[in-house]
Amino acid sequence: MSEPIEFLEAGALASVLTPDMPGRTLDYRVPDGGIRVGAFVSVPLGPRRVKGVVWGPGAGDYDPGKIREIGTVLDVPPMSGTMREFIIRVADYTMTPLTAILRLATRVPGLGDPPGKRRILRLTDERPTRMTDARERVIAFLDEHEGMGFAPSELAGLVGVTSSVVKGLEAQGVLQSETAPRDAPFPILNPDLPSKDLSADQRHASTVLRDAVRSRTYGTTLLKGVTGSGKTEVYLEAAAECLRTGRQVLVLLPEIALTGEFMARVEARFGAAPAEWHSGVTQAGRRRAWTGIAEGRARLVVGARSALFLPFTDLGLIIVDEEHDSSYKQEEGVLYNARDMAVLRASLSGAQVVLASATPSLESWVNARAGKYARLDLTERFGAAVLPEMRAVDLRVDPLERDSWISDPLADAVRTRVAAGEQSLLFLNRRGYAPLTLCRACGHQIGCDDCDARMVEHRFLNRLMCHQCGATKPIPVECPACGSADHMAALGPGVERLAEEVERRFPEARMAVLSSDITMSARALKQRIEEIANGGADIVIGTQMVAKGHNFPLLTLVGVIDADLGLQGGELRAAERTFQLIRQVAGRAGRADKAGLAMVQSHQPQHPVIQAILGGDEEAFWQAEAAERQAAGAPPFGRMAGIIVSGPEERETFDLARALAARAGVLTQAGAQLFGPAPAPVARIRGRTRVRLLVKAPKGLPLQSVLARWVEGVVPRPNYRIAIDIDPQSF
Ligand code: ADP
Ligand code: ZN
Ligand code: ZN
Repeated sequence: MSEPIEFLEAGALASVLTPDMPGRTLDYRVPDGGIRVGAFVSVPLGPRRVKGVVWGPGAGDYDPGKIREIGTVLDVPPMSGTMREFIIRVADYTMTPLTAILRLATRVPGLGDPPGKRRILRLTDERPTRMTDARERVIAFLDEHEGMGFAPSELAGLVGVTSSVVKGLEAQGVLQSETAPRDAPFPILNPDLPSKDLSADQRHASTVLRDAVRSRTYGTTLLKGVTGSGKTEVYLEAAAECLRTGRQVLVLLPEIALTGEFMARVEARFGAAPAEWHSGVTQAGRRRAWTGIAEGRARLVVGARSALFLPFTDLGLIIVDEEHDSSYKQEEGVLYNARDMAVLRASLSGAQVVLASATPSLESWVNARAGKYARLDLTERFGAAVLPEMRAVDLRVDPLERDSWISDPLADAVRTRVAAGEQSLLFLNRRGYAPLTLCRACGHQIGCDDCDARMVEHRFLNRLMCHQCGATKPIPVECPACGSADHMAALGPGVERLAEEVERRFPEARMAVLSSDITMSARALKQRIEEIANGGADIVIGTQMVAKGHNFPLLTLVGVIDADLGLQGGELRAAERTFQLIRQVAGRAGRADKAGLAMVQSHQPQHPVIQAILGGDEEAFWQAEAAERQAAGAPPFGRMAGIIVSGPEERETFDLARALAARAGVLTQAGAQLFGPAPAPVARIRGRTRVRLLVKAPKGLPLQSVLARWVEGVVPRPNYRIAIDIDPQSF
C-alpha cells in the first residue's frame, strides 16, 4: 500500500516527536537534502542526542535564533502515515501523551544503529578467582543458554544483577566480548504447502475469511467455536490467503509462555518459523523482528499485545486468539485493550480482524449481534472428538469433609481415571496453600503491611505472600495481635493445599501442579507441559493458566473445585468471567476420541451462571447478560471510565478524589454520571492509597474530551496521581 510522501524542504521547520521529551513535539531545522515526514532521526536535546520521528511541519512558536538542526537520519524505514495516525488515535482514546504511545511503537534496542556493530558477551572457560552469588547466577544462566551471546545490559537484566557484576566478569576474562553478525534475514513462508482436509463447517468459515482478506478492506469477524473445533486451522487458512496477497499477518496470543505448540503448528503449515514478539524474545531477536517487519521482510508475526505497535508496512490481517482474555488489557503504563486497538489498527490499514474464542467477550458477542462484526460459528469438535459431558456436584448434597475440597463423587471419578490410565485435571483458581491465615483465639487475620490484601500462605516457600505486591513474611507461630501461640490456622484451599489432599487420597497417582507462582523459566514450563501432555502425570492440579492453550490428549476428566469462587463480589462482569473460565477449563476434557466429563462443584448449582456453564442454552445466557448490562447502561451499551487517584497519604488521596467529585457538574452537564469516590478494588498497593471514581456515559458522548475538561481543574501535588482508565476491566 503506497501512501503519498510528505516532504519537508531544507531550511524549513520540522516538528519532531521523541519519547525523551514527554508530552510535546520539538521544532528543528531541516538539514540539506530535505527530509520525509515519518523519518527516524537523531536530534540534539540539551547536551544529549535523542532519537525521534519527524512528525510534520514545525509549529514555529520558538525563537528562530534558538532552533537547532536535525542531526542524522537513522537507517530505518520511515514511519508510515497509517502508523502515525494509529499512534495519534490510541493516544486520544487512552488519554495518554503521544510520546508514551510513540515509546510503545519504538521500543526496540539500538534503533537505527548500524547493523553488525552489536557487542555481545559469551562465556569462556575461565572462572572468577572469587565466586559470588551474583556471579554464579550469570554463569549458570549462560550455561543454560549454551553458546548464546547477550548484550551486556541485556545479560544483566535477564539474570537480575547489576551491570558492574557483568563488567567484573568481563574484566576477569570469564566473559568474552564479540561483535555479533548482521541480523539474519527472515525465511520465506510458503502459504501453498498442503493444508489439512477441512470439515464442511471449517471449509465454509475459511472460504468466507479468505474472501474477506482478498477484499483488502476493513472488517471484523467473530469466529466462535468450542475448544477443539478447529478455529486455529480456519484462521491459518485466512493467514495463508493474506500471505498470498503479499500483505502481512499478525497473530496475537494471550499467554505467550504457552506458545511452543502453537509455533510448531504455524511452522508446519508454512514451512518456516514466523517472527515472534513478546517479553521472552532477546534484544537481538527484538531488533531483528522490528527491522524485518519495518522492511516488510517478516510477513507473519506471532506476538503478545504489544506486537500491535510493530511497524508493519502493509498489514492485511490481525487474528486475536482467545479474544475474551483479560490479559489483552494492559493494566500499567498506557492502559489499552489490545483487542479493541487491533480493530482500530485494522480499520486504518484496510485490514481484516478475526476475533477467535470459544467463549467470546460480551462486547464482541453484542457487536456481532448488532451486525458491526460478522460472525462465524464452528459448532462441533473436529473429527470424532465430542464435547465433554457437564455434571454438577451439589455440595449441599455431597458435603465436603473438614480440610477436604474434593467431594466423594469427584474422588470416585478421579479414581476410575487413574485406574484406566487416563488423566484428570483439578481446577482451582487460587495460588498458594491457603488464602487466609487467621488466629482462632482472637480472629486476627494476617494482612500485607503495604497493601489492602490478605497474606496467602505458600508452603512451598514456607512463607506468607501478598499477591498484590509480592511481599513475603514468615508464617507466624504466635498471633501478632493477641500473642497466643498455636492458634494460627490456615483457612480455605489453594492449589498447594489441594495437592496435599491429592497426595493423601491418591497416593498411587503421579501428580503435577501447574500454577503461575511455582517459579519456572518459560522453557522449563514448556517442557513440563509437554511431559504432562505425553502422559507424565495422572492428576494435574492447576490455576487459571491451564485454561489456556495447550492440548492434553489423555485428559478425560476435569473437576472444578469451586465454581462459586468469582461469583461473589457483585461485579457486573463476574458472571461473564466465571462462565468463560469454567467453560474454557471444562473444554480441556476429552479432546481425543475419548469422551470427557467435567464435574462442577458448587453450593448453588441453581445459579443461572452455573446453569449456563452446565450446558444450558448458551445464547440465552448471553442474551440475559446483555440485557442486564443494557439495563445498567454499562459497556458495551454505555461508555465507562475508571479514575484511580493514588498517593502516599490516605487523607490527602481522598481529598484529591473529593476535589474531583466537587467538579462533577462538568460531567453531569455533559450528560455523564459520576460514582464514588470509594476505595479502589485494591485500595492500597505498595503503600499507596488508591481511591476510585467511575464515570458512566451514554454511547454517543465524547467521553475523552469531557473527562479532560473535568480533570483539568484539579492539579495533583507531587507524588499524587490521577490515572484514567477508559473501558476498565472491572465495574
Ligand atoms: P481450536 O483452535 O478451535 O481449539 P484447533 O484448531 O486447535 O481447535 O483443532 C483442534 C485439534 O483438531 C488440533 O489438534 C487440530 O490439529 C485438529 N484439527 C482441526 N481441524 C482439523 C482438520 N481439518 N484436519 C485434521 N486435524 C484437524
Ligand atoms: Zn490472636
Ligand atoms: Zn502487599
